[in-house]
Amino acid sequence: MKSWKWYATASAIALSATFTAPVSADVKMDDILKDASTVGDVVSYGLGTQGQRYSPLKQVNRDTAGRLVPAWAFSFGGEKQRGQESQPLVKDGVMYVTGSYSRMWAVDVKTGREIWQYDHRLPEGILPCCDVINRGAAIYGENVFFGTLDAKIVALNAKTGKVVWTKEIDDFKAGYSYTAAPLIVPSKAHGPIIVTGVSGGEFGVVGRVEARKVDNGDLVWSRPTIEGHMGMLAGKESTMTGKQNESWPGDLWKTGGGATWLGGTYDPDTNLLFFGTGNPAPWNSHMRPGDNKWSCARIALDPETGEIKWGFQTTPNDGWDFDGVNEVVSFDADGKKLAATADRNGFLYVLERATGKFVTANPFVAKISWAKGIDKTGRPIYVPENRPGDPTKAADGKKGSSIFAVPSFLGGKNWMPMAYSKDTKLFYVPSNEWGMDIWNEPVTYKKGAAYLGAGFTIKPVFDTHIGSLKAMEPLTGKTVWEYKNKAPLWGGVMTTAGGLVIFGTPEGELKVLDDKTGKELWSFNTGSGIVGSPITWEQDGEQMISIVSGWGGAVPLWGGEVAKSVANLNQGGMVWTFKLPKQLASKAK
Ligand code: CA
Ligand code: CA
Repeated sequence: MKSWKWYATASAIALSATFTAPVSADVKMDDILKDASTVGDVVSYGLGTQGQRYSPLKQVNRDTAGRLVPAWAFSFGGEKQRGQESQPLVKDGVMYVTGSYSRMWAVDVKTGREIWQYDHRLPEGILPCCDVINRGAAIYGENVFFGTLDAKIVALNAKTGKVVWTKEIDDFKAGYSYTAAPLIVPSKAHGPIIVTGVSGGEFGVVGRVEARKVDNGDLVWSRPTIEGHMGMLAGKESTMTGKQNESWPGDLWKTGGGATWLGGTYDPDTNLLFFGTGNPAPWNSHMRPGDNKWSCARIALDPETGEIKWGFQTTPNDGWDFDGVNEVVSFDADGKKLAATADRNGFLYVLERATGKFVTANPFVAKISWAKGIDKTGRPIYVPENRPGDPTKAADGKKGSSIFAVPSFLGGKNWMPMAYSKDTKLFYVPSNEWGMDIWNEPVTYKKGAAYLGAGFTIKPVFDTHIGSLKAMEPLTGKTVWEYKNKAPLWGGVMTTAGGLVIFGTPEGELKVLDDKTGKELWSFNTGSGIVGSPITWEQDGEQMISIVSGWGGAVPLWGGEVAKSVANLNQGGMVWTFKLPKQLASKAK
């Protein structure tokens, strides 16, 4: 009798393991377009293609958040750690999460057990500028997609993790790589397309946005971001970006930068793709007088053709590495379709998203030195003496005069995505208060070599803190509250209808704040620094919150004096998942 019971229990366990095994993902375009409002899954980067990172869930709220407990934690394992900047996806009870060194996992969200792991085989000599990170995957049909450090896009079968197709974006030996989450959007002519950019702005690559067919990765269109370069559509040259030499001198546009390394967002209301573009190359701005379009800009693209519908340059003739890549987040206010974007240069911009028309811009960090403000047309009012000096005018012709500029080149805000709350109508901007000594040097382009023509050291602006999460009114620029953090913030933010703002710190804490007051409601130390972006979804009636933990990214590599202050932080690689204790969860419903 006893042994019979044992067998019965064992077979029940085996059966339940079979039943909780993943069903195959079948993500439809509608699932992606409605992702922001469907609470049972997260099938896009940004919790919706508009990038608001707002969840309508409220089981975890101001009253219950203090009771959150870990549900499970999953280790990426191995010796490969470094920065974990990814945002997981969840569909049909399976989490798809990317990690450092171009890896991906499928994890059972009920147990935290691994279903499969994919390790991309990386060649010798990859050239990632800013750590071996990855920011997340895309999902459509039965496949998941992600970019790799050797500049490929890989499609994997969601059920098995087996490769379905691989396409090369470009030559990694020239400095190309890809770390952003791909974006999947509809097109009438080509069906669903997967849209990506390129990384490599510090190596003099030329930025572009590309669309491929989701079925086989075949190129649909390509749109360079630097004027003078030709676009492609349906296998043929289409149109030139801008007009050759209009805002670039000589041949510098040929290696002109403008990398689209952070991917983009998509607004179904206007049917536009929004991508940001990085610094013009090289950093030494004296070599390229002119606006250098479309570097340091936001561009809106037609998903059918890849044509640029509008462009808005945040830092024309950039001399501070103020990449204009940061996310464009759609929101509605005053009956208008608007978009907000918080730039590396320290200003939070609001544009009309159908036309790119400038609405307003306000500073979101203190002591900005390179510009006095933004004029009525949206153009910066430069402080000429805060541009690093021309090295050809130096006595030795080698080192131009050094200046102290705020923000530092790592930005008032870097890649880490902000969030918008539909309830408070505020943006929650993860920012950093720091500056840099910067000077220019002569430089010539060499394939696969850093193409900067600048030297720099980053320094804090305040003794007390660098990180600063700000709750801001987008149209007035008013800071409603601020949460100061000693180390620089480097992870994404999420808001919920429960009145919460959720984000992580390099010190390792996942934090939940009250969206109205900034009051801390809950905090949990994940054991390594957080530079990933949180998600939340509902699983069998329970609200789950996940974050990837694992310290790294650009700060330890490029942070100068700031890097020294965070050198003690331990690396890692874990997904943490939290929920309320079951009894409490059912009461809160
Ligand atoms: Ca959803
Ligand atoms: Ca850059």
